Formats: sequence, structure tokens, C-alpha cells
Amino acid sequence: MAVIAGPEQTTGPQYGDDTPLPAPRLTVIGTGYLGATHAICMAVLGFDVLGVDVDESKIKRLSEGEVPFFEPGLPQLLAKALDSGRLRFTTSFEEAAEFGDIHFLCVGTPQQQGSDAADLRYVDSAVTALAPHLRRRTLVVGKSTVPVGTAARLTELVRRLAPAGDQVELAWNPEFLREGFAIDDTIHPDRLVFGVSSARAEERLRAAFAPVIATGTPVVVTDLTTAELVKVAANSFLATKISYINAMAEVCEATGGDVRGLARALAYDDRIGGRFLKPGLGFGGGCLPKDIRAFAHRAEELGVGQAVAFLREVDAINLRRRSRTVDLIRELAGGGDLTGVRVAALGAAFKPNSDDIRDAPALDVAAALHRLGAQVTVVDPEATHNARRAHPELDYATDAIAAATGADVVALLTEWNQFQEIDPDIMGSVVAHRRIFDGRDALDATRWRAAGWEYRALGRP
Ligand code: NAD
Repeated sequence: MAVIAGPEQTTGPQYGDDTPLPAPRLTVIGTGYLGATHAICMAVLGFDVLGVDVDESKIKRLSEGEVPFFEPGLPQLLAKALDSGRLRFTTSFEEAAEFGDIHFLCVGTPQQQGSDAADLRYVDSAVTALAPHLRRRTLVVGKSTVPVGTAARLTELVRRLAPAGDQVELAWNPEFLREGFAIDDTIHPDRLVFGVSSARAEERLRAAFAPVIATGTPVVVTDLTTAELVKVAANSFLATKISYINAMAEVCEATGGDVRGLARALAYDDRIGGRFLKPGLGFGGGCLPKDIRAFAHRAEELGVGQAVAFLREVDAINLRRRSRTVDLIRELAGGGDLTGVRVAALGAAFKPNSDDIRDAPALDVAAALHRLGAQVTVVDPEATHNARRAHPELDYATDAIAAATGADVVALLTEWNQFQEIDPDIMGSVVAHRRIFDGRDALDATRWRAAGWEYRALGRP
């Protein structure tokens, strides 16, 4: 990791006089994947930070130095932050309000049950719990991904509930971190977006991110609305790029083309670029799927649904890859009934280097195969615990060879490095049939075929 500069204690922002303000004290409300990472990184960057959550067990684990989820490097950084004395955790909003100059809202905004809309109850309840204790000038900064218009509504709410009234300001600072790269993305983000409604809010945010800005990170200052939109626009673009190449995979399947060659050829055009142009089982996780649905839903509410109607198709293409995967695995297994067919599912997490199984394509496919009668054994280096809780009906193994022992089909569903490095001969010696489905376009087809495997992948002959 690169050298990290601390906050500028003596040359902080100045408001009209010559007295530099001290570095702001930060609270981070909601200590999940985003919030815990943000709290830990900000403490390591030199700020005094208080992490807040309603989940007592999570707060206890974090206080004891245990990161409640898998993120490479984060346990070491948590230890460092706790040792520095700059990071503490609490469940008390009163304590948070007293402590913080700036409060970052990092609670979840999942998809509502039975609707495509975002569920804002956690955001609302965090603000409702915090605001009545805000008795002095403060900045509340939303980082959660929210439907456009939320910040304006929360501004009203917070000012109505806070004793400090309009001394409390609201800003939006959307977060773009990727699980698996969360630390680097927090400390060296591509850009910072500050959605503000005053120069003072911008100054406070610049102070809160001074060490990050000092390394040359670009800052884009916008209004609240634009900042909310940036995040969903970015995720919509990424989802569209993935579904675009997967739509081409569908066409390749119908015509005998090879989407891998097609994607490579497109990638050389630097107007298109190769990143996120990888065909496969598609996107999942706690962000992209629910964010594009919530965006489409919100746009429809606002009467501009047509402008983003393509996101419905992006979602549909993505989900069709999962059913196509089930069909291809069935074909590999002989094409008939899947009852009793033994499938080794390599991967459960929505992507490698994460234990996150929210809307995970891999687990979705494994569960669908099980419903069709297959005997599915799942293996994942980090997500087994979460997967087992969500899908206790599936079998779980501790390593790929154990999962594949006696398998009729092996399916690579999450491209963890260790799965990509599997030796086809070694795995071939334990399976019942040498049949491999490569759901992530991650294996060397020639090598697997040379080892006697029947190899199938999405969008490829
Ligand atoms: P998460 O479910 O891991 O964490 C949410 C946390 O909020 C939980 O610990 C929960 O206990 C806590 N919480 C719920 N209600 C609360 C309340 N009233 N007060 C305090 N804490 C409360 O979710 P996440 O993945 O960290 O996502 C959080 C937000 O960040 C979402 O809006 C998400 O879209 C956005 N986001 C996430 C990522 C990511 O990679 N995970 C990246 C960018 C943006």
C-alpha cells in the first residue's frame, strides 16, 4: 500500500478568520462492507472515528478486532486502527452525535420485498435516531446508494428533528468501492464526488478527505441531486456493458460464433475498452442488480421511465445467463432429467475475493440445479458460511477436489484464482465424468480438452 498522509491538523480549512479548524471528528453509521471499511481507513488516515451500528454483535466483533466479513487486508488494518486509539465503535446515537463533526451514513439500501424500489427504512431510521441528538453545527454525509431525491427529503427530516435545526447540513458523497479492493478504492479512489448545497459543506468534506485529496484524487463538486445520480448512472453503465457482451454471447450461441474472440476484437477499440466486457454468468452482489432496478423504478415514478427502460433489458439479459447456465449443465449431463446428477459448484460468492452472496449468480444457479433434482456440492474459499445459512439444502465441501469427487459435471461459477489454477488431470482423477462448465470464461479450454474433458462455456462453440 502506498504511503498514507495524515489529515492536515494545522492547515485545515478556514472560515473567514485565520484560525485553522482542527481535523473533523468522524462517525460512520452502519458498519457493513462499506461502513466498516470507511471507518477503518479513515482512522488509519489519521482521523478520530466512531463506528455506529444497531447490530450489537457486529459492534462487539469490530471492537475486539474482528472484521465480520471477508475483505483482503482489512483485519490487519482494523488492528492498526484500534492500536492507534483513533477508532472506536458504539451502538449509541447520542454518543455519536456528541462525538462527531461529520456523520457518514453507510447503512444498507436493499431492494424492497415485492418491488424494484430501494428500501429506505434503514436510512430513515438512522437519521431519525441521530438527528434528535444533534445540538451543534454538523454535517451529515450520505454515502449509501439512494434514489434521487432522498437527500432533499432527508435534509427536511434532519432539520425538523435536530435541536440545532438548520445548523445541521446534509451532503452526499456516493461511494464507488469494489469489494475485494475496498481498501485501495477507499484510500485511492478514482474520484471523490461531493454533492453539497453550500461552500461550507464542501470545505468540511475537503477537510474530511484531505489526505485522500492530497494524493491527487480528483474531486467533482455537484449539487445533491447530481451526486445521487452519479452513483446509479455509474452502476447502470457497468451493468449495461456486462449485459451487452452477454447479449452478444446469446447471439453467438444461436449462430455458432465465439464470444471470447468477439470480445477480444472489440476490446482493442479503445472507445469500447476491454474492462467489464467479459462474457459469463453475469453480475450480482449487493449493488448492481438492486441499483439498476431501483433506478428504473425511480425514473418511472418521476415520469422519465422511458429514458432508462433499457435497464429492464439489461437486467433480463443478466438473469437469462443464469437459466442458460442451468441448461448448459443439463446438456453436459446428457440432456435429460437432472435427478440424482452430481454437480460440483465451484464458487458461491458473487465474485472472487468476497464472501458476499447477495444476489450471487453462482449460488442462484446452484439452488436452481438443486430444485431440479441435482445433487449439488458447493465449494467457496470464503463464502461457505454465508451460503450455508442462505441455502442449507445444498451440500458444502471444504476444497474443490472434495467437491468434485464423484461429480458428473463440474461447474466453475465464481472465478477465484485457486479454481482457475486447478490441474485438469488431478481433478479428472476424482470425477465420475470429465465434464466442465466454465461460467466465467476463466479456464483454458484447450488445456482442459487436451486432458480429456468435455468443455462448455457461455457463448462459445
Ligand atoms: P451492509 O448490509 O453490509 O451494511 C449495512 C449496515 O448498516 C449493517 O451493518 C446494518 O446493521 C447497519 N444498519 C442498518 N440499520 C441501521 C441503523 N438504523 N443505524 C445504524 N446502522 C444500521 O451493506 P453495504 O454493502 O455496506 O452497503 C451499504 C450501502 O452502501 C448501500 O447503500 C450500498 O448500495 C452502498 N454501497 C455498497 C458498496 C459495497 O461494495 N458493498 C459499494 C458502494 C456503495
